[in-house]
Amino acid sequence: MTPISSLSRSDLAAWLAERSQPGYRAAQVKGWLGRGAGSFADMHDLPAALRAELAGSFRLSSLDPVLQSSADGGATTKVLYQLDGGYTVEAVVMRYPGRSTLCISSQVGCPVGCPFCATGQGPFGRNLKSWEIVDQAVDAARRLTEEGRRLSHVVFMGMGEPMANYAAVVDSVRALADADLLGISPRRVVISTAGLVPRIGQLAGEGLPVTLAISLHAARDELRDVLVPINRKYPLGELVPAARDFAARSGRRVSYEWVVLAGVNDTDRDAEELGRLLEPRLAHVNLIPFNPVNGTPYQAPDRRSVKAFAERIRSHGLNVTIRDTRGREADAACGQLRARAIREGAATA
Ligand code: SF4
Repeated sequence: MTPISSLSRSDLAAWLAERSQPGYRAAQVKGWLGRGAGSFADMHDLPAALRAELAGSFRLSSLDPVLQSSADGGATTKVLYQLDGGYTVEAVVMRYPGRSTLCISSQVGCPVGCPFCATGQGPFGRNLKSWEIVDQAVDAARRLTEEGRRLSHVVFMGMGEPMANYAAVVDSVRALADADLLGISPRRVVISTAGLVPRIGQLAGEGLPVTLAISLHAARDELRDVLVPINRKYPLGELVPAARDFAARSGRRVSYEWVVLAGVNDTDRDAEELGRLLEPRLAHVNLIPFNPVNGTPYQAPDRRSVKAFAERIRSHGLNVTIRDTRGREADAACGQLRARAIREGAATA
């Protein structure tokens, strides 16, 4: 059965008009989806006959939750969803005082294949449809509503390279902003990329005030060619100017993500190279202590060395934060819950 989320606003309006329903019904249906209705029967302000016809024609969501885990005393929860065709993806909700952030997936697996990443170790499956991305947020919003919280921020940092599924990701950002659905402003959305330079330029032209995050991880091509293999196609000399141009055009600082791999990219030389590479006014560096991933040769750094590395970067005038390692017990490094589910037979691909 077709998921109702796959209908655009105009398709839904046309479907309703064919049934002689007034124009405002589309907003009512979207509103119920955004408020986390558990079924079409729950949509009380729709006529009973229409609710029955909706239930006979559509599924409420394109996603089927198959596994959950939680960590940090329940502050971090992760859900593995089955998609049509049998693939699975995961999404993580992180609760903070005053805000709740969803880390969303845009692809099944990831074609970039970074050697330290659980997602990158598996085979690439397929791109998600825009509504499969949005449904992760709708489901998270429903779960948060039950706790008296609101989904406030979305980061495209789950499975996949968002820029390699560009059209669906941009469509989903626009759909998330729909005030009848979730009303999440693009200002509260972060889109990460390993460095698809042409798409960065395209995104700058969309007029969407999202924050761009570059998965940098190394400030010299020789190392980045290994850690982020797409660097061989779009080296730092092309990536950093494209990101700088995005910052200049959007007026929003770019966030540079740096997974700290003990002894690999946390040396004095790395701090020095990073300081030379980035323009402090337009950049923010986010250090992410590595979460150990089975089957990779990399080690987690200790807290003290991450702090020391941060200080060395700061000495170059750069703004630096250290991300908390949310969800170590929740398999929260991207791809880890899915990898465990596949190992244990709870998911197939
Ligand atoms: S780190 Fe990101 S870009 Fe690299 S393989 Fe993992 S999901 Fe893909």
